[in-house]
Amino acid sequence: MRVLFAAPDASWPVWAPALTRLAPEMELLRADQAGADPASIDAIIYAPGGPISDLSPFVNARLVQSLWAGVERIVTNPTLTQPLARMVDPGLARGMAEYCTGWTLRAHLGMDAYQQDGVWRHDLTPPLADGRQVTILGMGELGRSVAAMLGGIGFRVAGFSASGRAVEGVEVTIDLGRALSRAEILINLLPDTPQTQGLLDADRLALLPQGAWLINPGRGTVLDDGALLTALDKGRPAHAVLDVFRTEPLPPDHPFWSHPRVTVTPHIAAETRPETAAPVAVENLRRAMARRPVLHLVDRQKGY
Ligand code: NAP
Repeated sequence: MRVLFAAPDASWPVWAPALTRLAPEMELLRADQAGADPASIDAIIYAPGGPISDLSPFVNARLVQSLWAGVERIVTNPTLTQPLARMVDPGLARGMAEYCTGWTLRAHLGMDAYQQDGVWRHDLTPPLADGRQVTILGMGELGRSVAAMLGGIGFRVAGFSASGRAVEGVEVTIDLGRALSRAEILINLLPDTPQTQGLLDADRLALLPQGAWLINPGRGTVLDDGALLTALDKGRPAHAVLDVFRTEPLPPDHPFWSHPRVTVTPHIAAETRPETAAPVAVENLRRAMARRPVLHLVDRQKGY
């Protein structure tokens, strides 16, 4: 199979050996090698920021396999006619669960509350985890992984999703107001779609309990930046941990960088790692070549 690697050049040395080691039958080509005969390409491996924006010449490609879980930048590409699969990878799920658990524990234990200033803050004792309500927006692959890890250490976990599909150990609702109003710690893992853009606006943030924390490793578009800055002044939320932004990298003069109650991380919550994700990509490419059903197909209508 001839596979085009349509991802940033910098990722080639990391991904090419991992993919070709697993699939020696694969001829993996960079964009400059495939340009001469795009009709000969059987499948495309895609990540944002790569060299290909027009997918229409690849008339025989049976699959576009995204290396990212979030596909908003490719699913909206009008030249995409090929089936699109997103990345669902155990390493991504584990990484996201670790990121969210770490920041949840910072919020839960009040790690910022105790200062080296001679004040004995004995009244600031956190509850046990089962006295803390964590709400996750988005109960997909990543939301469920985060819920399992947080539930495993005792947190009360609630979830919000479009379908309200049941998740063991999690009270899932389709009622966003209900989800927000109980969220002492709110984790956003919704994808970027027309339906989720601006979802966390001033009115919705005002539903959070006083002193809540917001952790957003989902997508920056879900959040109204200006509304968050105003909401922080009112303590709903009291602190925001943000990994994703409307503009990335976050511009140096953006107020989030210097806000005392905002923590910025640079889109590092969950990385697609070749050691766990290359086997997923190769399995899907082989399925496409054999005309078997591919895994993790994106629903174009829904956008995720
Ligand atoms: P997923 O499996 O597609 O799950 C998406 C979830 O969101 C589903 O539960 C879905 O509901 C729900 N949803 C979508 N639109 C909704 C709406 N309008 N209202 C309510 N619920 C809605 O996605 P995933 O693999 O968990 O990934 C989630 C997101 O994480 C990605 O899209 C990406 O933006 C982000 N991400 C970030 C990083 C990072 O490093 N920061 C890394 C990877 C991914 P249903 O279950 O009812 O369909």
